Amino acid sequence: MSPTTPAPAPVYDVLGIGFGPANLALAIALEERDSPLTARFLEARPQPEWQPGMLLDGSDIQNHPSRDLVTLRNPRSRYSFLNYLHEQGRLLRHLNVPSEFPLRKEYAGYIRWAAGFFSHLVDCNQRAARVEVVEQSGERVYEVTTMSGSRYLGRTLVMGPGRTPYVPAPYDEVRTPRVFHLTQYLPRLAELTGPGREPESVAVIGGSQSAVELALDLSRRFPRTKVTTYTRSHSLKLKDTSPFSEEGYFPEFTDYYFRASREGKRALDGYMHGTNYSSADGDVLRELYLTMYEQELDGDQRVFLRGNHEATGLRTAGDRVEIDFLERVTGERTTEAVDFAVLATGFRNMGPGPHEELCPPLMAPLADRFATESDGRLAVGADYALKPVADGTPPLFLNGLCESSHGIGDAGSFSLLSLRAATLTDALTERLSTTLAADRTDRSAALAAA
Ligand SMILES: Cc1cc2nc3c(=O)[nH]c(=O)nc-3n(C[C@H](O)[C@H](O)[C@H](O)COP(=O)(O)OP(=O)(O)OC[C@H]3O[C@@H](n4cnc5c(N)ncnc54)[C@H](O)[C@@H]3O)c2cc1C
Repeated sequence: MSPTTPAPAPVYDVLGIGFGPANLALAIALEERDSPLTARFLEARPQPEWQPGMLLDGSDIQNHPSRDLVTLRNPRSRYSFLNYLHEQGRLLRHLNVPSEFPLRKEYAGYIRWAAGFFSHLVDCNQRAARVEVVEQSGERVYEVTTMSGSRYLGRTLVMGPGRTPYVPAPYDEVRTPRVFHLTQYLPRLAELTGPGREPESVAVIGGSQSAVELALDLSRRFPRTKVTTYTRSHSLKLKDTSPFSEEGYFPEFTDYYFRASREGKRALDGYMHGTNYSSADGDVLRELYLTMYEQELDGDQRVFLRGNHEATGLRTAGDRVEIDFLERVTGERTTEAVDFAVLATGFRNMGPGPHEELCPPLMAPLADRFATESDGRLAVGADYALKPVADGTPPLFLNGLCESSHGIGDAGSFSLLSLRAATLTDALTERLSTTLAADRTDRSAALAAA
């Protein structure tokens, strides 16, 4: 090679997009299973973080802390939440904390700590912008181009970018920094408020756990601000935490769900919905109710809940946003002017519904290389691989995006992350074994000839 010829880009066995908990759990599984596969992960953020826009004071996690990055797969792993606490010298103090679940801040610290062991495999500040199949030295591989123009090549691709935020109409019709999804909550708050810039009135849209947490957080931060939660349903519901329902987060349920017909899946979704969506835990519901009741006693109501309210229009008016609401039962129409509105409206699953998307946006240009179900959504295998229909399409896996094929345990949560990482590791190893064996033969032949 001449000194001016640029070195060819390396081809990684595993190229991962995103380094949130899902792909981090995969990186750990590859290491703990002594995988010979080379891997590189691209992360858009300056450093791996877990849901940093929502690290609210006092908010706790929604999963058993030992359903972490590793424990279900390997209870002896050094990357467990318990070992994190041990290594921080906080184990006993933590076990003595009088709360059922750890603070989300502490769990985010755990994720940061675990990710720190894998920094050699991750390129941060690299947001994947385009994915293509290209030919490199006679081999079909994925080429990922990032926003900064860097190119990465992979024999397989593992998509772990997290789910796409769902922004319903009419909130998606006006572009203003004053209407934003909860994933942007803390940074947007820092831009819009500050000392002497307390909002007069704000809206929280939705009836989820996050909506209730946001209402509480806003009411604590801005005690003089009017905080109104608008929900399309009648009121705020208690989450289904029945231990029987919780078995929906067992791997046996994942298998059962995967084999079910689309109609059967719909019925199961209907049952499991209240374990994760449009509902909140008792502790935050009680706290919000008490806050509102005490304000009523004091004759100083500032926190409100408006059920059966659906937004029908939205416009900006100076430093305010005006939202038109329809009361879905009485038909009454009102308009509310707020400093900003936070959308706790959830995320998109794969599917044809109005809340869904047929495939993750980054994959759209590749989508016709893969089989779809009759309703247009991508068909996913039990091992999270897509099914190629075009010749020469390298293996592509989805990590954390498969609720519509694998059920509620795959709703982007921690519940089954570690077991999914094992499935992915096995599937990646199997798909690549032919290529690796061919490589080894080539290398041995080259050594013998040398
Ligand atoms: C506020 C909130 C609280 C939650 N609390 C819990 C909880 O307590 N328990 C629970 O089990 N689940 C919880 N969840 C669900 C959550 O989805 C999971 O906890 C977890 O974050 C899923 O991990 P992930 O890696 O699939 O996705 P993410 O955590 O979203 O990680 C995806 C990563 O990919 C990166 N990325 C995205 N696009 C690109 C791109 N184009 N190029 C490069 N990088 C990219 C992102 O920057 C991010 O780091 C919560 C979700 C939210 C929003």
